[in-house]
Amino acid sequence: MIKYTLDTPIGKLSRINERYLKKFHKLGLTTVRDLLYHFPHRYDDYSKIVPINALKFDEVATIQGLVQKIDNIRTFKRRMSLTEAIISDNTGSVKVIWFNQPYLIKNIFPGKSISLSGKYLLGPKGPYISNPSYELLIIGKFMTHTAGIIPVYPATIGLGSRFLRYYIKLALIASDQIKEFIPYDILRKQKLPEIKTALINIHFPKNMKFAEEAKKRFAFEELFLLQLFVLKQKISLQKEIAFKVVFDKNLIQKFVNKLPFRLTNAQRKSAWEIIRDMEKNKPMNRLLQGDVGSGKTVVAAMAALETAKTGFQIAFLAPTEILAQQHFKEINKLLNGFNLHIGLLTSAENKVEDETIKRNDFIEKVKNGKLNIVIGTHALIQKNIKFKNLALVIVDEQHRFGVEQRAMLLGRSKQIPHLLSMTATPIPRTLTLTIYGDLDISLLDEMPEGRQKIITKIVPPEQRKQAYEFIRREVKNGRQVFVICPRIEASTSPSTTPLDSTRGGLGADGQLEIDHRKLIWSEVKAVKEEYEKLTMDIFPDLKISMLHGKIKAKEKEKIMTDFKDKKTDVLVSTSVIEVGIDIPNTTVMMIEGADRFGLAQLHQFRGRVGRGKHQSYCFLFSTSGETTHRLRALVKCDNGFELAEKDLEIRGPGQFYGIKQSGIPDLAMNSLKDLIFVKSTRQEAVELLKKDPELLKYPLLSEKLSQFKKTIHLE
Ligand code: ADP
Ligand code: MG
Repeated sequence: MIKYTLDTPIGKLSRINERYLKKFHKLGLTTVRDLLYHFPHRYDDYSKIVPINALKFDEVATIQGLVQKIDNIRTFKRRMSLTEAIISDNTGSVKVIWFNQPYLIKNIFPGKSISLSGKYLLGPKGPYISNPSYELLIIGKFMTHTAGIIPVYPATIGLGSRFLRYYIKLALIASDQIKEFIPYDILRKQKLPEIKTALINIHFPKNMKFAEEAKKRFAFEELFLLQLFVLKQKISLQKEIAFKVVFDKNLIQKFVNKLPFRLTNAQRKSAWEIIRDMEKNKPMNRLLQGDVGSGKTVVAAMAALETAKTGFQIAFLAPTEILAQQHFKEINKLLNGFNLHIGLLTSAENKVEDETIKRNDFIEKVKNGKLNIVIGTHALIQKNIKFKNLALVIVDEQHRFGVEQRAMLLGRSKQIPHLLSMTATPIPRTLTLTIYGDLDISLLDEMPEGRQKIITKIVPPEQRKQAYEFIRREVKNGRQVFVICPRIEASTSPSTTPLDSTRGGLGADGQLEIDHRKLIWSEVKAVKEEYEKLTMDIFPDLKISMLHGKIKAKEKEKIMTDFKDKKTDVLVSTSVIEVGIDIPNTTVMMIEGADRFGLAQLHQFRGRVGRGKHQSYCFLFSTSGETTHRLRALVKCDNGFELAEKDLEIRGPGQFYGIKQSGIPDLAMNSLKDLIFVKSTRQEAVELLKKDPELLKYPLLSEKLSQFKKTIHLE
């Protein structure tokens, strides 16, 4: 037999022609190694062979017997080809029907011993086994397709599990060459099988227990690598030098005393964590996580105040112009009386205090350090903006903004600025411990006192009219309303379509991109329709505007500003208004097709209201008219973190921001639901790096890690 290596291209394996090769490539499989790592997404348990006279209708069973007869039959009506066979064992005989596989008769003919697995059905013409998988029995040959536990693989058109099983079995010959790269004491401690055993058992397990152990090992492997990756990033950042920001107790005291409210304990604790970080001469890398309205801005203002008073500059980045303006106002208010110079820079504006100044003058003020705090959009990180001594970058609502942009700002400063990233998107614990694992986290898990509760209601179809009437009354009382249109979902779901046959799977290349474009257009259509419905039929007396993904940024800003200035009453929108805008006069958030959104996102929408002194409401309409337990969870719970955990449980990690594109392998992905497991991978990685930060004693692991890095994209 030919000796394969792990790098042998699949094309070199026996009996593969161009056509099939393409299909392998489509699944992302090019080498023997890829085949070995193409894991089943489930198993069929065929371990029990049933005598023919004991077959039960509608159950999947495995039988073994002799082929008595086999014929192709053409059905003219349905333009389908049928292959019918009669199989018998010593208890009886049974009819078997295959659909559209006329070539089977070349392999299966009378006199052959065969093993079959499929569903036993009662058709109009009597009982039969439908479309079974089969294997011809040769005495002593190991059965791959119908005996014991059978792996079922993510397949593509024309490349079914059966085919994959055959080639993966071939590839397993090379598994000898795979070397264990996880330290043995970790395997022992975590009770995980060694890699070769795990490879064999994940594909062809003797029983389900072996399969589970193997899966656990690979899930561990993937998460462990991810942990090493993020932790090493963290370690290397700690080697850089940052500005030391001095803790000035009196200054902070003065700031706190001037506030018109008492800080929450969570705000104090977070501010303290930030202050302690910035006292060191190592760059802070911290994520401040807090529900909408939890008061992140005040915490950021404290950090900025300390930094500015130590004599350094601060850049404060917001995702949109409106948000930048909002922060500019808020920070000016909070830091009033501290004799600081605060500027606003967007593509449209350059302002210092209330005064608009020339762009070049502004840039000059940044460069010579006259401006202490510069608030702005991405315009702030253009090449022509140079800081004198930028010591702190604050970023609002852009999770992964840090890494790249900080690097850009870096080039302009000898020392690395501290980074404070803020988000209102609740992130489940398992994610902060993995893909956000290089960040330190501060939590605002407590709301300021006296916050009103938003009344959340699921509106059944028959109460829609009443809800509209309610909305009209709110508007008559001077309030405003958001309407969110349903999200339109892609018709085909990408990859891992669990079809173990020649049907289904991924479409042509680029399919997803086209779907995405279609998606935006259908959302635009949905918004336009809703807008029309509301303006023509429901609220002809109100001023309504709309927002969607096809509206240019400039115009979007104008629509938002008009809404903020109360020039319109109702704003109809897709999910684009999700992020941080503060319009306290809006008291109703009406969500159409609420059942199509994730909990975390619904919670975000809801957080857009209830920011002023008026009682606010969130109305949930569902497409089907039915209430899911997801919607009921939203009615019951107003804590973003709890909802995020629930969402993770119900819908899995794929829906969280940045996860789908992250390249995190499937098994690791599934394990992101399991906090204890995630913690154990983190623990092992931390301990190992403590002993050997450069992994010098673990060259195989180190090599594996550099390969892993290439496949991961954290945003
Ligand atoms: P977010 O975390 O959503 O960014 P903000 O920082 O915008 O929240 O704060 C929301 C509102 O709550 C602001 O008007 C702010 O002044 C106010 N606020 C912040 N902290 C407190 C507090 N401890 N008590 C009362 N109000 C507060
Ligand atoms: Mg905010």
